Amino acid sequence: MTDTIPRPRDDEELGHPDPGEPLLLCAPLRIEARALRRGLRDLADPLDVIRTGYGTRRAAQAADRLSHDPFGQMMIMGVGGGLSADLSPGDLVVGTDVGAVTCASAPILAGELRRAGLAARTGRITTVDHLVRRAERAKLAAEGWLLADMESAPLAAAAHGRPVAVIRAVSDTPDHPLAGIVSGGLAALRSLRAAAPVAQRWAAACGTRQVLLAGPRSFCAGVERAIEIVERVLERQGAPVYVRKQIVHNTRVVGDLESRGAVFVDELDQVPDGATVVFSAHGVSPAVREEAARRGLAVIDATCPLVSKVHAEARRFAADGYTVALIGHAGHEEVEGTLGEAPDSTILVQTAADVAAMQPRDGERVAYLMQTTLSVDEAAEVSGALRERFPAMRAPGSDDICYATTNRQAAVRAVAAESDLVLVAGSKNSSNSVRLVETCERAGTPAYLIDGAEDIQLDWLAGVSTIGLTAGASAPPAVVEEIISALSGLGAVSVSERVTTTESIRFGLPKEVRQ
Ligand code: SF4
Repeated sequence: MTDTIPRPRDDEELGHPDPGEPLLLCAPLRIEARALRRGLRDLADPLDVIRTGYGTRRAAQAADRLSHDPFGQMMIMGVGGGLSADLSPGDLVVGTDVGAVTCASAPILAGELRRAGLAARTGRITTVDHLVRRAERAKLAAEGWLLADMESAPLAAAAHGRPVAVIRAVSDTPDHPLAGIVSGGLAALRSLRAAAPVAQRWAAACGTRQVLLAGPRSFCAGVERAIEIVERVLERQGAPVYVRKQIVHNTRVVGDLESRGAVFVDELDQVPDGATVVFSAHGVSPAVREEAARRGLAVIDATCPLVSKVHAEARRFAADGYTVALIGHAGHEEVEGTLGEAPDSTILVQTAADVAAMQPRDGERVAYLMQTTLSVDEAAEVSGALRERFPAMRAPGSDDICYATTNRQAAVRAVAAESDLVLVAGSKNSSNSVRLVETCERAGTPAYLIDGAEDIQLDWLAGVSTIGLTAGASAPPAVVEEIISALSGLGAVSVSERVTTTESIRFGLPKEVRQ
């Protein structure tokens, strides 16, 4: 066991919140407390709401009293003034920083509120000792604050390192200033009431826990190469740079490159004549290459060399007169590309039933290939069925399921054995990430695929003390850090890693971007 990631907070600093200790739910104003109680009243064993009083002075007095209370975690809820023009009355702001206090679980909380149908954003909350007017709103917004209130910062400081969260409902904004506070205030109180059950779920999810990191995890060599290709083309040619399909299957990566000028298109007819187009890591069929040549497009190929190897095998087997059974998932871009190499000689098989239904030209001349990101176990079942039906079957020269897929599945299997649940960072359309979830489930450990901390559901965490954490080959390492940070906002987190193998593979860049 190795401590590889510094603990976001130290156990000593946090004072070990005891999950048995209650949530202190604070609301400064009577009407805010009433809205919260109404929101909680249908729950079994609803939380008590403590009214802390209006303004900074009363908040400081309440904080002084509360800091001696035996609470496990603190939530502050109320209304506040929005500082950004894109906020509307009734929107919820979940504080990431509240005065000088960091509320690390804000992304989890905001995601939970959005799933409850509420408009919620994360942002910095400042506490002031007076009502904020137009010019001051602009000044505070320019300093990076999203919302101003008159109580949260002193109250949050009373948590003294225990988990703390702040949810403020917007009553007024630069476009709906204090003159409209009655309608804005009603919208804010309605949102507070609707948000109250989330506070109870947040409290149930709080507690000290262990995070076990699977190693290896996150980016593989093919994904790093594909991203670097797009970055280099952007540097050299400037925006826009056209990319056919998502360069890799990850919303964060795609969003980041889009913000820098990459334009992702589904097909080449969306690329202007004569433009440069990058082919994604998943590869393309010869028909796509031919169309690009016909259109005079400048192609830069980011196909992973391990996918290109499968394409070459498909061509070779077909040229030798073999029927190729391609084990893979219908509709996946990589499978489409491989099928296109020898469409008349290739049959897609997804299950043992597909194998039974196969009608090759010659049962003595059958070969098989695989999608690179399959589940090792699942693929073995289908290849076993093929071998049984076609004993003379030829196999690829080396495993088609790539090193990155195999290594990440082995690593997550090791972590799942020790965990109550596993979080897999990755996008829904990422085949290798979905396979990691399935690997855990096959091992009997619940697992969830999440793009980021905002997708973590509080109910998953209640009563859970050990969380396995990995990331698919297309998910950035920064997402793992973000998830650990967010979990640390629910209680002290100790992080260790289970390394089943280390990777040193790198792929060269295509000549067009090498210099
Ligand atoms: S998962 Fe494997 S095949 Fe896919 S890009 Fe990464 S290394 Fe290449």
